[in-house]
Amino acid sequence: PTLAQPCARRTTCPYCGVGCGVLATPDGIGGLTIKGDPDHPANFGRLCSKGSALGETVTTEDRLLYPVVAGARSGWDDALDLVVRKFQDMIAKHGPDSVAFYVSGQMLSEDYYVANKLMKGFIGSANIDTNSRLCMASTVAGHKRAFGTDTVPGQYTDLEQADLIVLTGSNLAWCHPVLYQRIVAAKKARPQMKVINIDPRRTATSDIADLHLSIRPGGDAALFNRLLVEIYAQGAIDADFIRDHVEGFDAALATAHRCDSAVTGLSEADLQAFCDLWITSHKVVTVFSQGVNQSSSGSDKVNAILNCHLATGRIGKPGCGPFSMTGQPNAMGGREVGGLANMLACHLDIENADHRSAVKTFWNAPAMPVEAGLKAVDMFRAVADGRIKAIWIICTNPVVSMPEADAVRTALEGCDFVVVSDMYGNTDTAKLADVILPATGWGEKDGTVTNSERCISRQRAILPPPGEARHDWDIIADVGRRMGWASAFDYQSPAEIFREYAALSGIAGQLGRDFDISAMQEISDSEYGDLAPLHWPQTAHRAGGRFFGDGRFFTPSGRGRMLPIQFRPPQSVPSADYPYVLNTGRVRDHWHTMTRTGTSARLSQHLAEPFIEIHPDDAADLGLAVADLAWIRSPHGHAILRVLITDRIGRGQAFAPMHWTSQYASRGQIDTLVSAHVDPVSGQPESKASVVRIEKY
Ligand code: SF4
Repeated sequence: PTLAQPCARRTTCPYCGVGCGVLATPDGIGGLTIKGDPDHPANFGRLCSKGSALGETVTTEDRLLYPVVAGARSGWDDALDLVVRKFQDMIAKHGPDSVAFYVSGQMLSEDYYVANKLMKGFIGSANIDTNSRLCMASTVAGHKRAFGTDTVPGQYTDLEQADLIVLTGSNLAWCHPVLYQRIVAAKKARPQMKVINIDPRRTATSDIADLHLSIRPGGDAALFNRLLVEIYAQGAIDADFIRDHVEGFDAALATAHRCDSAVTGLSEADLQAFCDLWITSHKVVTVFSQGVNQSSSGSDKVNAILNCHLATGRIGKPGCGPFSMTGQPNAMGGREVGGLANMLACHLDIENADHRSAVKTFWNAPAMPVEAGLKAVDMFRAVADGRIKAIWIICTNPVVSMPEADAVRTALEGCDFVVVSDMYGNTDTAKLADVILPATGWGEKDGTVTNSERCISRQRAILPPPGEARHDWDIIADVGRRMGWASAFDYQSPAEIFREYAALSGIAGQLGRDFDISAMQEISDSEYGDLAPLHWPQTAHRAGGRFFGDGRFFTPSGRGRMLPIQFRPPQSVPSADYPYVLNTGRVRDHWHTMTRTGTSARLSQHLAEPFIEIHPDDAADLGLAVADLAWIRSPHGHAILRVLITDRIGRGQAFAPMHWTSQYASRGQIDTLVSAHVDPVSGQPESKASVVRIEKY
């Protein structure tokens, strides 16, 4: 290559949890040309519309180029000194739990690790939580209850080897498009492979389904309880696997027997067809995503699914297993390095004294909280009532994305001190900050992410940081040093941070944890630079592969745990005032709150504005015609959306996409409508079943 023909660099897409490999080549005028990486095991060269448009989104036009304090340009020293002084004042006066970090599954693992270390080991509070709480927390809780650890058993190739793929609570075609393409290709190659799609709506994903089940919102646990009963009734349990490797079977089955599957809203014929196909298919993968997780019974739904796989031994074997699809590019990496308020780094548990002691010793930390910190919804409630007096929000936009978003806005408006690190200074959240710190973004920073199949993959810096923007790990470490912990935060590179948590993961492995990448703890800078995608675990004795096929779990007994699951309906109940159930989700060509995808005209062509889907009979009742505008009101706020009339959705239900911010649609923010009911185990909000009223605008 010459200067005129620069070579492509391997990196990873920053959008969804598929984690596709990307070849990015500087175009010589500040942008990038993008291709799929043919050698990446997630996508083998494929990209979806969002990934292939990445080159159009690296514009520096709207970027925040320097620190801003109280609305005016500042230098880094002044801005960071102010952050340190304010946080230290609050901690001195009100204790460490008076401050908080709210971070993001968009951060790289190295950024995430340093933030977690600073808050938990040095500030001494567990008040660090992440927008992954809105995304995958119910899966984390379900995995930990069943397996003892937050372990994804399988890998993407299982999808290509399965006899039956069940897609539940997942619009894979739009939300994880490359995996959907892999399934389409596999089904074409093996037409006998079956697909079942479970979703209250018919979506693009339903196109590939041999059976679509329009389940009533929230009915998943009852459906999988019915499946467990049928598995037993048809003699399809794996008695040897249960005897040797599973506990809790009898209680789980007895509770499932008492569950009424009529609450699913499905016909008896559909229920039986689902059970029969599942039971008679030798290799089954059950893919589940936000439709399962974003629920006040999300953890129970996850465990109801895991119960069926444990009862039949369909786990950890080629073509078999439960498979959670993570929403964000680094939801998994964040879980690995302890980004959730109830976890420590390397899948260690904050409530476990041995785990706390191991991490404290490893970090040579002055402090360590003994119990979980505030989860996202509770964190912003604590901001609202003044228990949290200073918050640092990194790489996320909670004023748009949190449920009851108007209350989050009010909370931040009243907070004593708000810091935001972001690529952009004009987000709805950044506008409320006392200090805004310019951060580098995709294409400008180095680090690692972990995708839904436990594959660690490098993001690489290809473009220079714009203006004075700095990397998140560097900003956080600088604050740590200014707080007085110079040696603990004396990082010079992300490779150094990676080596540190790889070493800590070895200790976690000795403590019986699953996340062990200790074989890489002495990786050199150049090896880190060249690191090819690889699946964990990575130990001296084991590289990659599936978990649990050997029947060994991470629970104290070493057995997989089946749980008795009782059906619980969604918390919000339709009423005369709010008669419709509002489901929320993504569209194909936008991501989160559109800070990046909103800059691509091509991506905005797919769906140009926010909308609400309703059934034709409901539209007639409401006097609404195609493309009318409608007021959508909930007990928490209101929005104005374009009406899309379709029989893809059932009567009494509505669907609206989550992406639009005030920048793109002045009244199109739908998380103002969403109730902040949470799952009592995971703390994940119920974003799929709020209640609303719909009126002609
Ligand atoms: Fe990026 Fe996901 Fe699309 Fe792959 S499927 S290109 S990771 S958005």
